[in-house]
Amino acid sequence: MNTKIAVANGDGIGPEIMDAVLKIFSAANVNLEYEFVEMGKSYFDAGHSTGMTEQAKATIENLGILFKGPMETPKGKGVKSINVTARKVWNTYANQRDFRTLNGVDTVFSKAGMNINITIIRENIEDTYGGIEHMLTNDVAVGRRIITRPGSAQVIRYAFEMAKRKGLKKLACGHKANIMKLTDGIFLETFYQIAKEYPEIEVSDIIVDDLCMKLVSRPEIFESIVLTNLQGDIVSDLCAGLVGGLGFAPSANIGDNISIFEAVHGTAPDIAGRGIANPTALLLSGISMLRFLGLTEHAATIENSLLYTLEQGVHTGDFGDRSTQSVNTQGFADAIIANLGQVPANGSVVAQPNFETRKPVTRPAQNKITDTAPNITKEIQGVDIFVETALQPAEIAEIAKTKLNDKFKLVMISNRGTQVWPTGSIFTELVNQSRIRYEKTDGTTLTPRDVFAIAAELSDSIKVCSTEMLSVFDGKPGYSLAQGQ
Ligand code: NAD
Repeated sequence: MNTKIAVANGDGIGPEIMDAVLKIFSAANVNLEYEFVEMGKSYFDAGHSTGMTEQAKATIENLGILFKGPMETPKGKGVKSINVTARKVWNTYANQRDFRTLNGVDTVFSKAGMNINITIIRENIEDTYGGIEHMLTNDVAVGRRIITRPGSAQVIRYAFEMAKRKGLKKLACGHKANIMKLTDGIFLETFYQIAKEYPEIEVSDIIVDDLCMKLVSRPEIFESIVLTNLQGDIVSDLCAGLVGGLGFAPSANIGDNISIFEAVHGTAPDIAGRGIANPTALLLSGISMLRFLGLTEHAATIENSLLYTLEQGVHTGDFGDRSTQSVNTQGFADAIIANLGQVPANGSVVAQPNFETRKPVTRPAQNKITDTAPNITKEIQGVDIFVETALQPAEIAEIAKTKLNDKFKLVMISNRGTQVWPTGSIFTELVNQSRIRYEKTDGTTLTPRDVFAIAAELSDSIKVCSTEMLSVFDGKPGYSLAQGQ
C-alpha cells in the first residue's frame, strides 16, 4: 500500500521546485500518495491568521508527514511565520540538516580537496524562538530565552540516535555555557548525561564561537553537532555556505508524531515565476523524507542520480561553471530523471536497510506534560525587581532600603547585568532600567506572597517593570550572579 503524505507547494519559487521534485519522485516510481494542503501567503491574505486552513491542519495531524515548499510570512500584519509556527505547534523538536561536498558544486573547500560531511542537529522549539519579548522601558527591550530539560533531552537523544543510525563516530555539543551558565548549562549537562547511554560515540563540547572558527578553518574534523535553536540556526547556515549555499541545504524537522521536510531557503521572490530556481535543496529534503519513511532504495537511486547529474556539470543559474550554459528548473529535473540508475564516480550512496525512523501518529487525549523531578526541594531565596529609573545607584539603594522588613536584605543593584551597588565603577554607563536584588534574611522562609508584597511596596516609590523569583533547587541556586558581584 502506498504511504500518504501531506504536500504544501509553498509560495514564490515553491510551486516550481515542488513540481520538479514530485516529477522526479514519479519517474523513480516512488510509492507515495500526496494530499495537497492549503498553507502559506494566500491563506494569511484570506484572513487565516495561522496561515493554513482547518482542513490542512487536520490532514497534517492525521498523516503525520508534511513535505513543504518555502512560505512567505506577510510583513507588517502582526502574523507569526508559518514555518516557525508549524515546527513549534507540532513539536518537531529536532531540526536535522545534512551538509556534504557535492561534486559539480565548487567551493573553496572542494577546490582545496577538503571533503565536508557534517550533520547539524538544531533544537527547534525553544530558545529565543518563543518570541517572548517586552519593552521594559522605552529604551530597554528584553527577550526571554527558554531552555528546558525535557526539550534538551528530546533533541539530544535524537542526535545520538541519528549518529548511531548513520554509523557516525563523533557527536559534539556546541554551546555558550561559559556565559549562559543556566540555559546553555542545562543543555550541556543533559548532553553529557545522555552521552553515557552511547559509549560507542566519541563526545566533545565546543564553545560556539570557537566552533564557527574551526568550521571555516578545518570543517573536515566534524561529523555531527547538536546545538540550541538560535546558535544552531546560525551554525547551520554557516555550514550551508561551506558546501555551496542555501540551494544545497536540506532540512528535516522531526517530531514524535509529525515531521516536516523542507528546504532551508525561502521563497526567493526575486526569481519567482521565472522557472529558474534550483530544486536541489528541496530534492535533498525529499530524499531524507524517503529514508525516514523507509523508502531507502528509492532514496539511494534518486540521490545517486542527483550526484551523477551534478558531476556531469548540469547546473541551474545560481551555481556551477558559469562558462557553460545553465538549465532551468525543469531542465535540471529532466536531467536527473534521464540519469536515474546512474551512479556517480565519487560519493555514491547505498540503500541502508531498516533505516525507517517514522513512528505512527498517536493522538494524545491531553497535551503531554513533562516534569523531570517533581519531588525536588524548592526554596525561594529572594527576588530580582526590575525598575524604570534614571536615578543614580546609591539613590536607588536608599529607596530600596526604605522597603525592607525583617524577611529581606538588600543584596545588590545592577544595570544591564553589571553590578553598580554596593560596589561598582563610575565608568559603568547606565540605562533607565535597573535591577534590585533582595534576598531573604537568615532563618526566614519566603512565600511568593512575601516577594510580591515587597515589589508592591517598592512600586509606591519607583516604577516596577517586572519581577523574577530567585529559587534554589535541592540546594542549588537557580539564578545567576551579576557581573562583578
Ligand atoms: P531566500 O532564501 O528566499 O532568498 C535569498 C537569496 O537566495 C535570493 O537571492 C534568492 O534568489 C536565492 N535563492 C533562494 N533559494 C534559491 C533556489 N532554490 N534557487 C536559486 N536561488 C535561490 O531568502 P529571503 O529573500 O530572505 O526570504 C524570502 C521569503 O522567504 C520571506 O518571506 C521569508 O520569510 C521566507 N522564508 C521562508 C522559509 C521557509 O519556508 N522555510 C525560509 C526562509 C525564508
